[in-house]
Amino acid sequence: MNSERILEQLVTPAWIYDVANYRIKWANNSALQLWSAPNKESLYQRDLSADITEVTDKHLRQLAQDCTTEKTTIWWTLYPNNQPKQVYLRFSNVSQRENDILLLCEAVLYKDEVDRDTAFAHSNSLTTLFDASGQFISGNLKFKQQYDVQDIDLYDLLEVSPRELSKRFENHIEISMEQQVITNGRLCWFSFQIKRLLPELHYLVVQEDITKRKTQEQTYKHLAYHDQLTGILNRYGLNDHLTQMCKIRQPFHLFLLDIDAFKLINNNLGHSTGDSVLVEIARRLLQYLPSDYQVSRFGGDEFIIVVPIKPDSQSVEAISQLMIEIVAKPMESIDSIQVSASIGAANFPNDAQEPKSLIMYADTAMYKAKERGSKSYVRFAKQMSLEIQRRSAIQLGLKSALELNELVPLYQPIVDMTTNQLIGMEALLSWDSPTLGRVAPQEFVDEAERSGMMNEIGQWILTQACIQCHDWHLQTGKQLRLSVNVSAIQLNDKFITTLDAILKETGFPAECLTLELTESIFMLNIKQVIKRLKAISARGISVCIDDFGTGYSSLAYIHKLPIDSLKIDRSFISDIDNTIVVIEATIAMASKLGLKIVAEGIETQHQREMMLRYPGLMAQGFYYSRPASVVDFERLPLFQKLLPPTDINKILNFKV
Ligand SMILES: [Mg+2]
Repeated sequence: MNSERILEQLVTPAWIYDVANYRIKWANNSALQLWSAPNKESLYQRDLSADITEVTDKHLRQLAQDCTTEKTTIWWTLYPNNQPKQVYLRFSNVSQRENDILLLCEAVLYKDEVDRDTAFAHSNSLTTLFDASGQFISGNLKFKQQYDVQDIDLYDLLEVSPRELSKRFENHIEISMEQQVITNGRLCWFSFQIKRLLPELHYLVVQEDITKRKTQEQTYKHLAYHDQLTGILNRYGLNDHLTQMCKIRQPFHLFLLDIDAFKLINNNLGHSTGDSVLVEIARRLLQYLPSDYQVSRFGGDEFIIVVPIKPDSQSVEAISQLMIEIVAKPMESIDSIQVSASIGAANFPNDAQEPKSLIMYADTAMYKAKERGSKSYVRFAKQMSLEIQRRSAIQLGLKSALELNELVPLYQPIVDMTTNQLIGMEALLSWDSPTLGRVAPQEFVDEAERSGMMNEIGQWILTQACIQCHDWHLQTGKQLRLSVNVSAIQLNDKFITTLDAILKETGFPAECLTLELTESIFMLNIKQVIKRLKAISARGISVCIDDFGTGYSSLAYIHKLPIDSLKIDRSFISDIDNTIVVIEATIAMASKLGLKIVAEGIETQHQREMMLRYPGLMAQGFYYSRPASVVDFERLPLFQKLLPPTDINKILNFKV
């Protein structure tokens, strides 16, 4: 194969220019396209003298002299058919005879690169060409305005090492990257498109200033990843952080910190106070926890703190205690309000390997902590998994339970201890789920409060119980008292209106109704509580403090509340031999305040006899009856005793 045929094989456009005669003497097929020539003959016939100025002519002749031994590569503008095309040309002198001046011209860039580069020359992009060793060859005006071209090579520009760059080019002809670099003393973001040009392995770099977009992106990312209220990471930011930690296999503890009874603060002191509490807690966590703890707000009143485990790390107990103390200090700036927190902890990688499960496990442990009372912490343990499944099933099922009539009211008798007469009943909720079986109220009331369904469920049970008890009034001719539990969450502004509507609708006499509230109302704004309880009381409705002695009762306030009775919590009765002193003190206090007392949870003859020492008490518990359905309740001897005997005669007569 002769040399001409070899050149013909080249994809690179190549031609031999006869400098003395202003003609192309030979060209390969690729060159035809570049020169916009239909065929070789027409190209060879072109007289290029008209396009070549005297200066250009001299330049070409100089080039011919310069590149007799060494090739020269420079940018050159050709004007085929008067269309300017910028080409990166390599010249070599291939003159054979003395008077010949023949230059072999090879367009190092392909036609599309040439076109693109021409475009770039007039665009806002910075365009540069580097040789295979990374040395600067050429750059457009825009580039020269930003960089000192005397002192730059490819690796300086990209801020990567030659080794790193060749690694990125593995199996690729073109790569792109975004890099933060310093130009003109300014920190900028650039996008780089780097193409390796064959066969010379030159690098064509097109870069664009994307600082504005990057800054915007960072602003958006900051907004998307941070909680607007507290400024700390939100759940998306947290998820990103956790994913990174899991990816690099860094062991860590995940603490889920939940503010106790936060809904009560929001409902009763207003959302802006609730917000201030959250901001203050976030501020304290950031200020008092070590800086490598990642503090985030997972949502609502839940904070998640991610603590990397290091050789000198503190124990889960010590960290939890510290956080509980941080939260518990009175908040001077918010009317010295005091809140407490419950904490659940999970561990990566021991408990779970990915963020979602870790959070769920910490949440489960946190719930266990809540059961132990405020200011507790619990570490996740594997056996809690079953409870998680049940809890999420409860959350899910509760939504449809009301619509599907799965909730059942049950009634537990309340008796006069001295006479053993039925004087009333407490309405309790039970949930017969086709998938979960019977779900106890304490299991689902918490989930109902969390999911915001408590108001709806509370209204439903109150209505049902009023209808039922009204019916029993008619059956027995006795003014049996009805006790209904009201969650502190329900005790909002709308509650009184709802209450009036239910009494009107059911025709139930207000003076036979007792509302049972737990001591959690003492965590509310006490002035508002008193106002609402007075409004309830003004309607003739009684108020009872349920589960007395287990929660937050403040003796400073109890005499100010318009309440009628106390229910001594079942935990005291079940341990009566040890708690009798407390029971006696409670009874003494209640009698001084003129409050009636219900002994809750009487299960044995012994407990009953112990309580019978105190006259005038009411009682409730398994000893008398378990909570019963309407049918079962009506079968109870306690209830049967109240039915007028004439009814039986009527039935007998009817049967005959
Ligand atoms: Mg109760």
